[in-house]
Amino acid sequence: MTRAPGLIDSHGRTLRDLRISLTDRCNFRCMYCLPETEAAQNFYRGHWAHLPNPAPIVPQWVARSLLISFEEIARVVRVAIGLGIQKIRLTGGEPLLRHGLEELVARIAKIPGLEDLAMTTNGFLFPQKARTLRESGLHRISFSLDSLDRDNFKKITGRDGLGEVLESIRLAQELGFHPVKVNAVVIRNINDHELGSLVEFAREKNLSFRFIEFMPLDSARAWQKEMVVTGAEILNRIRERFELVPVAPENPSATAKRWAFADGRGEIGVIAPVSEPFCGQCNRIRLTADGKIRTCLFSVAEHDLRSLLRNGASDDEIANWLRGVVWQKEARHHIGEPEFVSPPRSMSCIGG
Ligand code: SAM
Ligand code: SF4
Repeated sequence: MTRAPGLIDSHGRTLRDLRISLTDRCNFRCMYCLPETEAAQNFYRGHWAHLPNPAPIVPQWVARSLLISFEEIARVVRVAIGLGIQKIRLTGGEPLLRHGLEELVARIAKIPGLEDLAMTTNGFLFPQKARTLRESGLHRISFSLDSLDRDNFKKITGRDGLGEVLESIRLAQELGFHPVKVNAVVIRNINDHELGSLVEFAREKNLSFRFIEFMPLDSARAWQKEMVVTGAEILNRIRERFELVPVAPENPSATAKRWAFADGRGEIGVIAPVSEPFCGQCNRIRLTADGKIRTCLFSVAEHDLRSLLRNGASDDEIANWLRGVVWQKEARHHIGEPEFVSPPRSMSCIGG
């Protein structure tokens, strides 16, 4: 079969979305991502000790010299846009920890053909850079917020930072980021009792709130399907208090199923990659902070773009290489099946 010039995989999907991890490091220690705190360990041991686990991943932080540079990122973005990529999302680890982030944003925002430049952040450091990021051309921002209870927020994230994150969300709205999205990962016996208050908060603040199923990407490999509150359960529990009406997806590759409220105030989305996989519509690839391309969140193999960039490859060579890599994109993930193998790196290293 001959390959079309854009980024098309062997299952017929056209890729439009490139997620770039700017660092694997983070100033939080979320229970579902880097569960290194005592609270996280107590939770997993206490509630779920009877369940068997694979060996934990010991995070190996990327050395500075191996981090993909701004120059290299801008070049990859330019080549990727030439291949049909339309959306770029900056993520991590915590992207706000990357020194000079606003310069990178300004640089990427000016690349002709880019339709959407977004960032996902825990928000803790956002106020320091918010205005510059807006002026530099960042279009959209998503925050992570799993709890509105100060103690529970600290337990989940390892940081007493609820006030800072709430202030960041307020500031993003004030600066005109629109929509401001907020993501909550829902874990049974951790924050599922807060679903109602998070929904109330989303409605009150006019936020686009997304509830996400817990995926097996934590560094402790503590994930078990018993901890997942499925999208269906999330919806049913929200429906006990609110009347929901379905909203059309943002686009055919959107991960969230969206719902509005019958009284017209607010909107929520449910992202259910575990119980209702959307792999057939996936149009994403990822670039890790150390310059590896990942064709799926759950890929067990990575493709070394950094070496190519540092060994004098031309733009055409990079484009051809990317086409070849994308062609190999996995058909789907295998969570919950006997053959499932967790990826060798956790979410903070992959770039969510
Ligand atoms: N540090 C930033 C943040 O937390 O928003 C960006 C990186 S974080 C890895 C990106 C997204 O992945 C966040 O919304 C986070 O909630 C989500 N995430 C991390 N680990 C997850 C897991 N095991 N299952 C589901 N979502 C996860
Ligand atoms: Fe850090 Fe984001 Fe992972 Fe939480 S989810 S530990 S904020 S990278």
